[in-house]
Amino acid sequence: MSVEQTLSIIKPDGIQKNLIGEIYNRFEKAGLEIVASKMLHLSKDQAEGFYSVHSERPFYSDLVNYMMSGPVMVQVLQGESAIDANRKIMGATNPSEAAAGSIRADFADSIEENIVHGSDGPETAIHEINFFFDDSEICQRTRT
Ligand code: ADP
Ligand code: MG
Repeated sequence: MSVEQTLSIIKPDGIQKNLIGEIYNRFEKAGLEIVASKMLHLSKDQAEGFYSVHSERPFYSDLVNYMMSGPVMVQVLQGESAIDANRKIMGATNPSEAAAGSIRADFADSIEENIVHGSDGPETAIHEINFFFDDSEICQRTRT
């Protein structure tokens, strides 16, 4: 066990459903700290770049259009085993397979429109955090 950081995104369907507070509450209740956060509307270059790992998949162009369809919230979560903890809070990619009580089980409409993104490993997390945030935008807690 160690303290990790992970990149989380509330996707356009999550913003449309007005779930920012609900989702942040789930992170905080699980002991994860939000150490950076911003809202932005992804450009085509940003959406394509962020999901470039999936560029050969048949759903890639739909995925890029979905991610550009409205604003998103991007945040860095920090805590013990934050990468796996966030994936557990999110639930499986396909909401019909997501564990009861997870974000995707509770709110997602489809395997594509599934409300949230979370990094899937330590190297991905570093890459994805750097994709959206400068080091100076990450704010460690200074009150103990
Ligand atoms: P996860 O977001 O759970 O890490 P993936 O990295 O496999 O899932 O896929 C990235 C995103 O691409 C998913 O969250 C979802 O929005 C979309 N996606 C994945 N698989 C499919 C699919 N079979 N059809 C349509 N969209 C998909
Ligand atoms: Mg993934």
